[in-house]
Amino acid sequence: MELKKNLYTIGGIPVIGLAQKHGSPLYIYDTAVMIRQYERITSAFSGTRLRINYACKALTNINVLKLFRGLGSGLDAVSVQEVELGLKAGFEPRDILYTPNCVSIEEIEEAVELGVRINIDNIAILEEFGVKYGARIPVCVRINPHVLGGGNNKISTGHIDSKFGISIYQMPHVHRIVETNKMKVEGIHMHTGSDILDMETFLRASEVMFGTAKEFKELDYVDFGSGFKVPYKADDVSTDVESMGKDLTKRFNLFCKEYGKELTLIFEPGKFLVSEAGYFVARVNVIKQTTSTVFAGLDTGLNHFIRPMFYEAYHEIINVSKPGGKTRIYTVVGYICETDTFGWNRKISEATEGDYLLFRNAGAYCYAMSSNYNSRFRPAEVLVHKGVDHLIRKREEMEDLLRNQLEIDTL
Ligand SMILES: *Cc1c(COP(=O)(O)O)cnc(C)c1O
Repeated sequence: MELKKNLYTIGGIPVIGLAQKHGSPLYIYDTAVMIRQYERITSAFSGTRLRINYACKALTNINVLKLFRGLGSGLDAVSVQEVELGLKAGFEPRDILYTPNCVSIEEIEEAVELGVRINIDNIAILEEFGVKYGARIPVCVRINPHVLGGGNNKISTGHIDSKFGISIYQMPHVHRIVETNKMKVEGIHMHTGSDILDMETFLRASEVMFGTAKEFKELDYVDFGSGFKVPYKADDVSTDVESMGKDLTKRFNLFCKEYGKELTLIFEPGKFLVSEAGYFVARVNVIKQTTSTVFAGLDTGLNHFIRPMFYEAYHEIINVSKPGGKTRIYTVVGYICETDTFGWNRKISEATEGDYLLFRNAGAYCYAMSSNYNSRFRPAEVLVHKGVDHLIRKREEMEDLLRNQLEIDTL
């Protein structure tokens, strides 16, 4: 986003113009930022055989999937529906890694039918899978290295009680199942949570991965999941991808030498690739002065944008209608019949009814987590690509709310 001639623009297009043209509230994504982020990782890891699988649960619009496919990315899918979206977007089955958690063996069988790579994260399913497919279908094994990432406990997955992955202490059992059923383990995977802040923690988890990986003799890849942190405000610490690239490339290449084979290093970022590319615009419905604060009430709420409430996430808010205006303090809230506060005590340039407020970092886990709560329509999505804005999802209408409802005639 840029401020040019007193006008906020995304990919060169004024934000206000986009909101007026496509309506409010509105999600806007800038492909240039997605491409920049993708290339940041590929160049940081240019010294090794790298594969990026975009973790599409962050933002599943099919156009975003197609963009990443075009860049050479694979896909990380956590449900069979995401697998199907990926296939529809043109990904080859072998370029999709299906990484579910606590799903039924039936859903895993569906994914096998679709020909994608399978990542298994519990012993019961591994055994069932082995008995059924034996050496015919290779698998990846998701481990839990028990190394803690920082950040929000809702997104940390490496702790001892986590439901994700197979504990490294259970590897003897894994090997017994693999050998007995003559299974081929083609990959080892970990995803320790979304907020690894420091390289030390990450490298510690990597050492656990290497230690586990060397015991499997038929690997093709080692998948380090994600954990890339992006800045949400100016003084945020974020993952230094460039220095991580240097350190891990060296260590990974050394491991490959020891292992005796050139393996592929996989990352599966979601947030890193799309968070900063996304913006959410909403209009001020009402300015409400109470005894203790001034509320700015918007034409949206936790139904469209739940990260601030669900994760206590900080999202920068800008009044794009009054660039450079004098600032006041607001509590920015939604219109849902719940406490849906987007931000307390935010210094925003003085807002009046009808102004457009812009939220930053709205690419990842924002539209993807939206709902119809309070029977509101979900917003539209716009993709700005090469200076042109494309409507990539229509705003919902009444018939969308009623689509699957069946009226009985005895009422
Ligand atoms: C959600 C998820 C990711 C992506 O995490 P980000 O923090 O968005 O990068 C990667 N891998 C798996 C298995 C996931 O569930």
